[in-house]
Amino acid sequence: MNDAIRNVVIIGSGCAGHTAALYAARANLKPLVLEGHEPGGQLSLTTLVENFPGFPEGINGPELIENMRKQALRFGAEYQMGQVASADLRSRPLELNLGKETIRTRTLIVASGATARWLGLPNEQALIGHGVSSCATCDGFFFSGKEIVVVGGGDSAMEEATFLTRFATKVTVIHRRDSFRASKIMLERARKNERIQFLTNTVVEDVYDVSKKEVTGLKLRNLKTNEVSDFPTSALFLGIGHVPNTKMFGEQLETDKDGYLVTTDYVFTRIPGVFACGDVQDRRYRQAITAAGSGCMAAIEVEKFLEEEGR
Ligand code: NAP
Repeated sequence: MNDAIRNVVIIGSGCAGHTAALYAARANLKPLVLEGHEPGGQLSLTTLVENFPGFPEGINGPELIENMRKQALRFGAEYQMGQVASADLRSRPLELNLGKETIRTRTLIVASGATARWLGLPNEQALIGHGVSSCATCDGFFFSGKEIVVVGGGDSAMEEATFLTRFATKVTVIHRRDSFRASKIMLERARKNERIQFLTNTVVEDVYDVSKKEVTGLKLRNLKTNEVSDFPTSALFLGIGHVPNTKMFGEQLETDKDGYLVTTDYVFTRIPGVFACGDVQDRRYRQAITAAGSGCMAAIEVEKFLEEEGR
């Protein structure tokens, strides 16, 4: 047990976490940011970000997130690698169990984000790192000159497909419906790309070939005709959304049916002194700029909470 009691601990180092850290640091609260297994969050896995205001030519996600981190560090935020295994939010101070260490804090900002969703195919997990991936920017390069499949109908799938045409000879986007969740501009960009083709009303039922330790093809089902077919490919990239990271809290914080933290007045959870921001509590907007905005709100609420406690 670490004897020191922190004013504020921030779980997560994505856009929301860094912004909360910046505001809390500038309020002299000496925030501690816990960086988990995906430091930098989703921005660190993306390519060019064109919709974050202030960058007329766009900025690469990893650069944007690194800038945010540097800015928070400059004002005295502390960063520590660590995965919160469990938390006791009923105790005062709040307790965070990191396995070898327990951290105590008066307030907590949950900015733990959301992690890529998998399809749950029989052979999917066995082929992760061998052709199955949820990160085009991390793994695309390995499939230079090959044919690739991307699953999903949202902005992530369009962005991945477009990015992967840098390497692949052909990218096939497989989507379970024939209408798309993706924004018009990103869908159009993908549609205009000659290397991208679309297979709609189709689901992936399995991925081959575990015995060869590489992806050789997919089992597909057309949902309109129910026809099952094999589809040769060298890689399967998933762009089917994310699951919020809330496991460490068990039942202590309220979640909706998909696991997003329920907040009132933007960032308040049902536990006093515990605030949530960014993708872990935002199923509606899920943008870098909205995550940053809610991180700012959470830090301001922390400041008010501590002030009211007389700190
Ligand atoms: P999303 O918008 O939730 O889209 C997920 C897609 O995956 C949907 O088309 C969904 O199909 C499909 N899907 C989900 N589960 C599936 C399953 N089990 N089997 C087959 N398909 C499945 O998620 P996202 O694309 O990750 O985007 C999340 C947010 O981030 C959005 O607000 C988006 O605008 C934003 N984003 C922005 C950018 C950018 O501006 N550069 C890039 C990426 C993401 P259905 O449509 O049938 O439900």
